[in-house]
Amino acid sequence: PLDPPPVSADPVVVPDFAPAWAAAYTKAMSMISNFTIQQKANITTGVGWGNGLCVGNIAAVGDFPGLCLQDSPLGVRDTDFVTSFPAGITTASTWNRALMRARGFAMGQEHRMKGVNVALGPMMNMGRIAQGGRNWEGFGADPFLSGEAAYETILGLQAGGVQATAKHYINNEQEWKRTQESSNVDDRTQHEIYAHPFMRSVMAGVSSVMCSYNLVNDTYACNNNKTLNDIMKREFGFQGFIQSDWAATMDTLGAVAGLDLTMPGDITMGSGTTYFGQNLTDFVLNDTISIQRLDDMATRIIAAWYFLHQDEGYPNTTVSSFDLYNPLNQEVNAQSDHYLIVREIGAAGTVLLKNEGALPLCKPKNIVLVGSDAAPPTSGPNEYTDQGGDPSGILAMGWGSGTDNFTYLVSPYEAIQARARVDQTSVFWDFDDWDLAAAGNSVIGMEAAIVFVNSDSGEGYITVDGNAGDRQNLSAWHQGDQLILAVAAQNNNTIVVTNSVGPLIIEPWVDHPNVTAIVWANLGGNEAGNAIADILYGAWNPSGKLPYTIAKSPADYPAQLVTGGTAADILSINYTEGLFIDYRWFDAQNITPRYEFGFGLSYTTFEYSNLAITKIYHEDYAQTDLVHNWEDGGATPIAEGSTTALWLHMPAHKITFDVTNTGALYGGEVPQLYIHHSPSAGEPPSVLKGFTNVVVSPGQTTSASITLSRYDLSVWDVVRQGWAKPEGTMTFSVGASSRDFRLNGTIPA
Ligand code: BGC
Ligand code: BGC
Repeated sequence: PLDPPPVSADPVVVPDFAPAWAAAYTKAMSMISNFTIQQKANITTGVGWGNGLCVGNIAAVGDFPGLCLQDSPLGVRDTDFVTSFPAGITTASTWNRALMRARGFAMGQEHRMKGVNVALGPMMNMGRIAQGGRNWEGFGADPFLSGEAAYETILGLQAGGVQATAKHYINNEQEWKRTQESSNVDDRTQHEIYAHPFMRSVMAGVSSVMCSYNLVNDTYACNNNKTLNDIMKREFGFQGFIQSDWAATMDTLGAVAGLDLTMPGDITMGSGTTYFGQNLTDFVLNDTISIQRLDDMATRIIAAWYFLHQDEGYPNTTVSSFDLYNPLNQEVNAQSDHYLIVREIGAAGTVLLKNEGALPLCKPKNIVLVGSDAAPPTSGPNEYTDQGGDPSGILAMGWGSGTDNFTYLVSPYEAIQARARVDQTSVFWDFDDWDLAAAGNSVIGMEAAIVFVNSDSGEGYITVDGNAGDRQNLSAWHQGDQLILAVAAQNNNTIVVTNSVGPLIIEPWVDHPNVTAIVWANLGGNEAGNAIADILYGAWNPSGKLPYTIAKSPADYPAQLVTGGTAADILSINYTEGLFIDYRWFDAQNITPRYEFGFGLSYTTFEYSNLAITKIYHEDYAQTDLVHNWEDGGATPIAEGSTTALWLHMPAHKITFDVTNTGALYGGEVPQLYIHHSPSAGEPPSVLKGFTNVVVSPGQTTSASITLSRYDLSVWDVVRQGWAKPEGTMTFSVGASSRDFRLNGTIPA
């Protein structure tokens, strides 16, 4: 395992993994020094789909035992006795670095115990379109939040012992035609929005990066010199290896420019042919590909293994992905007490959107639960392979490769029943989503009616109810809107709980006077029901915040799913909104959202006061002229050091303020810091650059701080190809959401 820097609500330590990488490279170069060309080529070539225990495998070569590469970003896929952690989108909604780290660490331990060498996560695509099928695997629609979640998750995973994979690099923002679409993105947007979480991944010492299926500016992502070499390996100084997404390698020569490992090895899954292997060997033998490049590829893969100390007694692989009944899957129980972190993140990642005195529930006499999403799935928690079907019960993860198999799954129904025994509450239920009249009748006279609705999506190799991965619409499934209206028509204390992969349009009922509370519970993993009960009954005071904007209309979002195209076409998806994704667009266009990015209520209230900002001086800053250039508004030249150079990311300003709990309950708040550049900088009106967490008792005040680095104040200068501080006055706000600013200040010149 790798020694991570200490976890902190606002990290000030920038870890330096360079010495550990250097040591790993020395060992790797020594190991391959006596390998033949063919042996080296074999290191860079997976054994082919379905061959081997894991979804991806490298065979043993010499003293190198090979590698097991296994999904997913929320647990160990295709095996037994593992935890189903809350999805990425739930984790992002906590805005809590300690919880992000703890989840990563627990997942890292489970992968390690099962003998997985490389975990195929985290996933950090940006949620550019609200319909994106895999958005729930990732961390929301803001690069800073996503970057922090990626960073902490990777530090956690790798501290747990497994190699992490930052995926999918890059611009893999929809499932429709994912292997036949070119995402066309300008250089500045690429750097400031889509590449940022990958840069943070490199800073966390990530061992592997997975290039994506799509094309970027008309070149396949796994063939892309600009993104793989210029940005990832040169600018970011990435030292690990780049692996292809499954069968995303398009050829030999073009790929070898930047790609180090082809997965699962064969050209199309199960074909038994490969672009690497013998083809790669032949190209090296006839001098078309240099031996130095092949050495670099093999060295990177083996160095990452040494970097994680996986040469020191790593557990044997005990997952069997292609034979789920293989007893090997039951040999190791990896769950430990990880249910605790699942439940805590499930609650901390739940966002309270509306509450008119309905919550927390206080020993209600009688309640009724309405909707199938409250219930256990009718034929067990794993009713569909890769969760790829219309859910018949609580939705606790989406579908596709980003899943694992539930060992058990607690539904809201079970959790609320357990609580009812304590409170001696009468509990009624109606899990039929389709009989609206019965649903309406079931809630008459009840103290509270809790309606559960969901919305699912997933990876495009599975189509569910017409949704080919991406969502066809942004409405709740199973006529959820009508179900809520049917209940609200008969009960004036209607509480809505959602389990959704992303934003929903909730206009049909959000302002209904009988809808007294909205609990946005995201995707909770195997303790989902317990976490929801913790929120409903106030065992956890809500502190989650939205990681995306909930719009009033789908058309309000800056970009939409692109469909159509014939089988042979390459779709062009032009990122014409540029830097203005999600809230940046709503702010710039003056569109009022229903609930803005960063929004979330508590059962208590907070007041902010006493803002101050001070400059921080580091000795390191004085050592180089670069700093001087930067202070003059110049750019950080790439040639002088990668954009992950430590000095650029060290704290340069410290913002302090106080938060007072002005309500009656103990609770947590997530103060957020947004920068406002001068108009000439061409930036969106407000840009998230910091957040922290406080917990405060009623009547108490606590002080909080957020630091900003030089990088945080920079924009990507496309002419000089570096990070530069734009001209003009920069102001900032600290507040409770992207629109609820409580304190305002100016960044000192
Ligand atoms: C997905 C990846 C996944 C891989 C292996 C691909 O289809 O896009 O996210 O890691 O398969 O299952
Ligand atoms: C596999 C996934 C893989 C996908 C690629 C599925 O059949 O189960 O692991 O990601 O194919 O399209």
